[in-house]
Amino acid sequence: MTDGSVYLDHAATTPLDRRVLEAMLPHLGGAAAGGNPSSLHGAGAGAREAVEAARAEVAALVGARPAEIFFTSGGTEGDNLAVLGLAAARRGKRHVVVSAVEHAAVRGAAAHLESRGYDVTRLGVDADGRVSPDALADALRQDTALVAVMWANNEVGTVQPVAELAGLCEERGVPFHADAVQAAGRLPIDVSRVPVSTLAVSSHKLYGPQGVGALYVREGVEVAPIVFGGGQEGGLRSGTENVAGIVGFGAAARLASEEMGYRARHEEGLRELLLRGALALPGVRLNGHRSERLSNNVHLCVDGVEAESLVLFLDALGYAVGSGSACASSSAGHKASPVLLAMGRGEDEAFSAVRVTVGKDSTRGEVEGFLGAFSAAVSQLRELSPLYASS
Ligand code: PLP
Repeated sequence: MTDGSVYLDHAATTPLDRRVLEAMLPHLGGAAAGGNPSSLHGAGAGAREAVEAARAEVAALVGARPAEIFFTSGGTEGDNLAVLGLAAARRGKRHVVVSAVEHAAVRGAAAHLESRGYDVTRLGVDADGRVSPDALADALRQDTALVAVMWANNEVGTVQPVAELAGLCEERGVPFHADAVQAAGRLPIDVSRVPVSTLAVSSHKLYGPQGVGALYVREGVEVAPIVFGGGQEGGLRSGTENVAGIVGFGAAARLASEEMGYRARHEEGLRELLLRGALALPGVRLNGHRSERLSNNVHLCVDGVEAESLVLFLDALGYAVGSGSACASSSAGHKASPVLLAMGRGEDEAFSAVRVTVGKDSTRGEVEGFLGAFSAAVSQLRELSPLYASS
């Protein structure tokens, strides 16, 4: 990292891969570098070609056809477009089902629909954070406009039984949206085998640039636009394309496809090392499913320790980790993670949760160093905690 600390917060964002940066550089010069992909002249044609090559690379990452990929400004926009756009395209259907552990991008879009008179069912999860297919089957109604359940959770790392859930929706003719922002590039995703209707991905979670993502929309599925203008991206997402960002996303997607197996094995080794070390300390517990979890995610409740103090303490020792969800931590107020509450954890436990997420370039030495710092930080903070000391 630029500040010299060891970066163990890859679920929040990943460092830009040097090879991705190299692919982007020729496109960072605006008109001189290739122009507007919608322009008719040669410069525009060059930019269009670069965007279309990236579209094919992103499509290949998830088993889609290039025509089914629509570039967005990131995962948040992809989730909003799917939830709001699927609902708007189904006039007369006023019921929406989302899991209780969705990212704020889906939760917020569902709450917006609710404020407009939609009925929203929030599906509960078990103690590991998994949605039950039976509960989904029970929740579906004649007037259900869409279902959204994420592929893998950004906080606790639990992977959902998406194939089963999406299959159920397909049988009942209900569109199914999967937020695959954390899963893409980490788990094999193949939309030709899993019947999702839409799927959101984001470049900066797979070593690409921030501020660019894509929504996969299965051919034949109707999604209404939420941004209006020049009709770019097949009319689904107006606005001049972020050419350099899209080129970077394409390069990152190609590298993720090529290196996924190696990256997952490397991360899993480090994750297990982290888990063994952390769980050896008293009063430390793992959140999320033990095996159906992202290769890079360790999410812990640490008794007697307030998560934000622990994160700041570790930062001072040179280790960057996340507390709860990084996406939520900049929002106003100090609220317990709805994900942990939905999993049945108490408020106290939710406030003592830290997330450590390794990446493809993390090393064994970094993890071992972290475990030493973690143990020291936890004991020092517990010594300061009158509640823990007397318990
Ligand atoms: N969905 C999930 C599961 C995420 O983890 C995130 C970001 O953390 C998002 C959506 C939002 O993506 P973006 O940061 O590209 O807007």
